[in-house]
This record gives sequence, C-alpha cells and structure tokens, in this order.
Amino acid sequence: MTQRIAISRRDLLAQEQGTIIKEWGGKIPICLVFPNTYYVGMSNLGFQVLYRILNSLPEVVCERAFLPHALNRREHTMNNQHLVSLESGRPLAHFQIVAFSIPFENDYPNLLTILQRARIPLKSLERNSRDPLIVAGGAAVSLNPEPLASFVDLFFIGEGEEAVIDFLRVFQEAGNNKTALLIEACRLAGVYCPSLYEASYNEEGRLREFQPLKNSAAPQQVKRQWLKDLVTSGSAILTQGTEFKEMFLMELSRGCPRKCRFCAVRTIYSPFRNRRMDNLLQESDLGLAQGKRIGLVGSALGDYPGFNDLCRHIINKGGTVSVSSLRADAITEERAELLAASRQRTVTMAPEAGTERLRAVVAKGLTDEEIFDAVERLARHGIRNLKLYFIIGLPTETGEDIEGIITLAKRIRHHMAKGGRRIGDITLSIAPFVPKAWTPFQWHPFADVKDLKKKIAALKKGAAKIPRCRVLHDLPKWGYVQTLLSMGDRRVAEILLRVQETNGDWAAALRNSYINPDFWVYREKKEDEVFPWAFIDHGMNKDNLWKEYQKAVKCHG
Ligand code: SF4
Repeated sequence: MTQRIAISRRDLLAQEQGTIIKEWGGKIPICLVFPNTYYVGMSNLGFQVLYRILNSLPEVVCERAFLPHALNRREHTMNNQHLVSLESGRPLAHFQIVAFSIPFENDYPNLLTILQRARIPLKSLERNSRDPLIVAGGAAVSLNPEPLASFVDLFFIGEGEEAVIDFLRVFQEAGNNKTALLIEACRLAGVYCPSLYEASYNEEGRLREFQPLKNSAAPQQVKRQWLKDLVTSGSAILTQGTEFKEMFLMELSRGCPRKCRFCAVRTIYSPFRNRRMDNLLQESDLGLAQGKRIGLVGSALGDYPGFNDLCRHIINKGGTVSVSSLRADAITEERAELLAASRQRTVTMAPEAGTERLRAVVAKGLTDEEIFDAVERLARHGIRNLKLYFIIGLPTETGEDIEGIITLAKRIRHHMAKGGRRIGDITLSIAPFVPKAWTPFQWHPFADVKDLKKKIAALKKGAAKIPRCRVLHDLPKWGYVQTLLSMGDRRVAEILLRVQETNGDWAAALRNSYINPDFWVYREKKEDEVFPWAFIDHGMNKDNLWKEYQKAVKCHG
C-alpha cells in the first residue's frame, strides 16, 4: 500500500514523534536518503535504526530525504526546485555526505532520479570536490553493488554501523580530497570503492576478470561486515505516515538458521543472531507505554528461543503483538493461542511451492501435513484468514507444481473448515523467482515473462473456483527488471541512464539500449562463470553452492 496524497515537509515533521534536530555547526552533515517515498522509507526499520545511530555520533548531524511523492515531483519540476532534506529543508547538495540506504534492487533508478533532482551530477567521475560524497549500503547493494558502480563513490558492504565510525575519521582527515579519501577508505573492512577496480570481458561479453587497480591499496576481497550485538533495533520515529502507523516495531533476530536455496537471507544476514531477551523486554515496555501494538520483525521469528515468553509478557501487560510471518512448522498450539490473544486476524506463511517435490528442490523443508496442522491449530483458535507466499518459475518447476498451488489451497480450505468451522479468506501471493547472488540458484536464469504470465492466469482461474480465495501477484516484467539489477555488472549503468532519460520508461530504455539485458536475465550460467559479486566475501564457498545447485536440479528434478 502506498501513500495516496502528497504531504508537505512541514506537515510530515509535525506528525512525527522522535525527530532528531541538531545544530550543524562544526559537524559532518549527512543526508540519509531512502530511494523511495517517505511512506515506504519510514516503514523500513533498518532505515530508522541507521538514522538514530548516525545522530548518536556527536560529530555528525544526520537528516533525511526521500523520493518526492509523484505529485510533489511534478510541482518540483514546474518550479525548478532542488530536492531538500526533511529536517532543515537544505538542498542535498549542501551536505558533505549523501548516504543511500537501499534494501531493494528495483529502487536503483530512484537513486538517479534523486541525484538529478538534487542537481548533483549522476556519475562519480563527473563530480568534483564541491559535490557531496555519495555512499550507499543496504541488503541489495551488499549482494551486488555493480549496477550502481558508476554512480556511487563508496559502498558499505553488510552492516556498516561500526565501519562508519572509522570511515568518518578517515573522511575528516582527507578534507576535500576525494581521491585521498577513497585510497584510505578502501583499506577499511567492508568498504568498497568501485572506481578503484576494473573489469575485463571476453568475446561473448562474459566477465573475464575483476581486479583492483594496480598500485591501489584496494583489497581483492571485500569482507561483508556484521554486528555481533543487535542492541538498538526498535522504531526510532513514530508517525502516521507509514504502513505500520499503529505499531512499534522491534527486531527479534537477524538472519535465518535455515538454508532455502533461493533465499539470500542466509547470505546477507549470516550468522543467525538473536537479540537479548532483557533488551527486548525493555524495548517492548517502551512501545507499550506509547500505546502501540508491538510489531515483531525478523526472517525467522519462530526460531527466536524466547518468542512465547516475549509474546506473553506483552499480552500480560495489556498489549498485543503482530508478526509479519511464521513458518508453518513453528506454529504450535501455544503460539496459535498467543496470536489469537493478540487479535491477529491473518497469519502469513510461505510454503513457496505447491508440491512437496518442488519444496525439496528449494530445500524449504516443509511437508503438506505440517502446513495443514498449522492451519488447523490457527482455525481452532479462531484465526481463519491466511496469506500464503508462493514463488513461480523456480528451477525444475512443471505444470504439476503450478496445479499443486491450487490443490494445496483447496486442501487448506478443507482443513480450515473441519468440524463445521467458519471459513476465512485465503490470499495466494505469487512472486516470480529472482536469482540472487551467493545462493545456490545464482546460476539459474529468470523464467520467460510470457510463461510466467500464463502461469499467473492459470492460478487466477484455479483460485476463482475456491470460495474466498484470491490471487495477488507481482508483475513478471518487474521480476525481469529485478533480475537484471540483481545479476547485472557495471555495464548495466548504461540501461539505468536510459531509464532516467526516458522518465522511468523501462520498455523504451531496454529497447533502445545497445546492450542486451537478456544476457543477464535469461542466460543459464556455467559452473566457471565469473560473477560480478565474486570480490565480496560473504564467507560462502562457490564450489559448495554449485554442488548444492546440482543436487537440487538433478536429484529432485
Ligand atoms: S526462505 Fe525463510 S526460512 Fe528459508 S532461508 Fe529464507 S528466511 Fe529462512
């Protein structure tokens, strides 16, 4: 859901609790930018946490900026306005550092739009010492920053909260000398300066080599950083202008102990870390004191050891909890009861595939029976609405797996209605498979867009025959774009520039580009493929990932 109306900067500030306003004098001004609207950005817990951490540093003043709402964008263009920060209304170009937090690949074009509206030259090479330093971090760029390599001066790979302190020291020492800054900064753990590397390609256009420039101190491998202690992870600012306006969000854990083969969570957030219980109890009390529902955030909520105790603590204090999603095999009788006591009306689970065979291919480790047991437990406690996530276009998928989604939904409906219980709504949420860096499926191509459309049509037809069952789906064309940005190397910058020139018209940009996007999207890669992200050390072994890919497609195919 998105915000439908454009709200002025002053009105946005007026409805916030927790805004940090600092004096600029003598501090390093950083504009923290979310490359999407205020509504989307402020719904992102990671962005909020970063805002609080940066402002906790005495030498920094951190303000925020977002992609202007579509209505504001028209007004901006008409009045030739510069994009400004939320807190002080200063143009982005007046900050020393503009820092993008980028969780999703499909927001990459917005980075260019924001730079353009801020009157900052798009390409790093075109900027001079009077321009702000452009830095970026976040899940998407920590997996593969290369499509943005021409536009960003420096990336933080992984959780950069600790690296940022060393970086700011280097930044201050370098003064206005960007070259000196990059040379020093690239020595810091987790910092990647793309201009200090060069790529070469073979005749087919495949990446041959990716190396640091000779005589530069840039490392061969950039090690992803991760935090040992997840202390500050709750909502920093409460506002009506977010998806979670009634909620106080708390991160329980980061990463996931499971190893689903399509999923990048195990790459980007490993190792799996739980927050301390005493810390969470304290933070939940803070949220309760503000009269908020407590939103529990994490990829593996059911694996948090104190999950039941924490929920009970909140409920006993008169509060309620909301969970984003739970694995079916984590929904015990006690948890179903706790969710019901929290008035959770809909529970989200992710079977990912319609058949047990395909679930084995992706290593989901979930049987039909486990899903039905969870549904029955929830229904016994009065929770009858389900949202079920499925991925289509997975390796080895057949027509039977697509039919399997409808069959599974029918059987779920049957289990829900057992004993004459009232049935609820079932939403099948369908997304195309997008290959991700450093997963066993990184070699696998994106499915044909036309085939994906046919599969979605078949799912809609099948769901229409099930009472109170509907299909929500991502558009395959956006899956294609996401794959391009997820798999692409630095040459993809050319396409991003065309998207910018055509005001976001991807079809025209792809048509007119001299490079063929299908090369990254539809090509099945060989074992020896040199990936653009090979220089990032996630602690994973490429040979093991290949073996796992082969096991998936050969043993279960
Ligand atoms: S899909 Fe879910 S359960 Fe599987 S690895 Fe990713 S976060 Fe964990």
